[in-house]
Amino acid sequence: MISKKARQISPSETLKVSAKAKQLAREGKSIVSLSAGEPDFKTPAHICNAAIEAITDGFHGYTMNTGMPELREAISEKLKRDNRLSYPVDQIVCSNGAKQSIGFSLLATIDEGDEVIIPAPYWVSYPQMVKLAGGTPVPVSTQFDNNYKLTPGQLEEAITGKTKALILCSPSNPTGACYTRNELKELASILEDHPEILIFSDEIYEYIVFDDEHVSILNAAPELKDRTILINGFSKGFAMTGWRLGYMAGPKNIVDAVAKIQSQETSAPSSISQKAGLAAYTGSMKPVTEMREAFRKRRDFIVEALRSIEGVECFMPSGAFYVFPDIKAFLGLHTENGEVINTSTDLSMYLLEKHGVAAVPGDAFGEPEGLRLSYANSMDELKEAVERLRDGLSSLS
Ligand code: PMP
Repeated sequence: MISKKARQISPSETLKVSAKAKQLAREGKSIVSLSAGEPDFKTPAHICNAAIEAITDGFHGYTMNTGMPELREAISEKLKRDNRLSYPVDQIVCSNGAKQSIGFSLLATIDEGDEVIIPAPYWVSYPQMVKLAGGTPVPVSTQFDNNYKLTPGQLEEAITGKTKALILCSPSNPTGACYTRNELKELASILEDHPEILIFSDEIYEYIVFDDEHVSILNAAPELKDRTILINGFSKGFAMTGWRLGYMAGPKNIVDAVAKIQSQETSAPSSISQKAGLAAYTGSMKPVTEMREAFRKRRDFIVEALRSIEGVECFMPSGAFYVFPDIKAFLGLHTENGEVINTSTDLSMYLLEKHGVAAVPGDAFGEPEGLRLSYANSMDELKEAVERLRDGLSSLS
């Protein structure tokens, strides 16, 4: 009854952990959740007000399929202002979140049997969306010692005659690592010899970068522009996950194909959310800066606290709101009840059920020796979470 396509994909592992944590909380257990993939802040007031105005003004109809021209104009301006990239309005498609932009862009470019290189650890949805598009995900393991960033050698080794695309995510979910301009240049130099390979550049965490400024692969290697699909959205930087607004920008032929798919599948995103997005990109960036600074304090706290737990190794991530410590020292150890912790999934279930702290196992992201902790949480909760982690991990033997 169920199609092969639907059967071959698995549900989101991150949502599974959140659901289990919620269920335990409903049963009365005290749970601190570090599993969320969204900011814990409210959407800034001026953005909410624009949406309220859109409702009261009767802005209730369908907009253009690719998004209202004013919003795409604002996105075009923003890409110039923040990224020094030039995209005319007809090379931008707004969608129901960056997720949909990635999904439709894959549908527009991937054929049966095409391989898509995905550096691991990866955001959970990439391989599943590649499969839905008929392609073959090719996860490429990266190393903790290189902050889990893909090296030129690893990229070169993964390329075959069937490679159609590479998905890059910087800042990264789940690791928080950001590629430097030099690292992107080096990757680009490998791609130079393979002009048939498309690049998906997911920059959804762009505004949550702590050290240097955000660098897009297109800043490092502008020559890739005619084969790069830029993905971005409003969810993370503006705390707008529930508004479902994202976009893609890219070469005209790919944009047109995405627009055609979108016109048959969903049409434009909500008109109200589009007005909110317009206010986000044309209004004050102060709330974005304030949220980033709050994330920075939490990052500094949690990294130092995790490093003080024996056996945990953790690098300082430069962006997003995740840390991805190496937990291999705990694999093979026993719980107080004599159960063996064989995998990161076992570890995350043990920490959740026995110590009331929810984190997503590295297994979900294709990296068996990691654990993703989201610090999109209050300082008080983070302090409590770290103590629970310390208790839980030090009880293993
Ligand atoms: N890309 C990455 C790397 C993400 O972490 C997320 C959200 N978890 C998305 C894309 C999708 O974001 P949205 O659909 O909310 O815009």
